[in-house]
Amino acid sequence: MQLMWKVVRPEDLQLGDHVYRYGLYGLYSHHGIYVGDGYVIHFTRTQSKKTIFPSLFKTSHEQEISSPCLKCGYQESINRGVVKTCLNCFQQDSQKLRSLHRYEYGWPLLRFKFARRGTCTTLLNTKLPLQVVDKANELHADNAFGDYSLVNNNCEHFATFCWTNNRVSEQAAFFSECLQKIKEAKEWTAELLQKNRTHSIQPSSNVVFHRV
Ligand SMILES: [Zn+2]
Repeated sequence: MQLMWKVVRPEDLQLGDHVYRYGLYGLYSHHGIYVGDGYVIHFTRTQSKKTIFPSLFKTSHEQEISSPCLKCGYQESINRGVVKTCLNCFQQDSQKLRSLHRYEYGWPLLRFKFARRGTCTTLLNTKLPLQVVDKANELHADNAFGDYSLVNNNCEHFATFCWTNNRVSEQAAFFSECLQKIKEAKEWTAELLQKNRTHSIQPSSNVVFHRV
């Protein structure tokens, strides 16, 4: 298991590597493309944190303002969409430096089913690393990846798009599946409660009937 999601040292990174680091206590992974010289191009939220995660972030927009990175100038509260940052900025989460991992392409379906979402895909990477870097640079130059959406257009969609021309996010698909299951469970519970209520009413009306 450790080999599957092994940590990659910054000095071992190669041009075009699709990398990720964990955030929010490991609940999600943030993805980007390594473009050389210690820099990563990644897709960040285009709205405030409060808009994307209303239940997790109660702070106002003003309280999110951060100071610019001394190395790359990245400022989380100002630079949004497709950004190019130093590795440190990419690895930062809640003021902690997270480890880097390399995303895997072309996983066999059976192995993929047991893999942690957001770490690999069954899709094949059909491009050369330099083509991937070019695509990431192009999207960064025009900041052209649209509005951020946790489920439909996130950082993993961006990185897989650079490699395959397909916007794929296994972790978003997993989240959607979970949300759907929760919705189904709620509907099923509500239905069950309704049935129980109906059953509990019927005997009591019978009792009344006998008394009459
Ligand atoms: Zn930086």
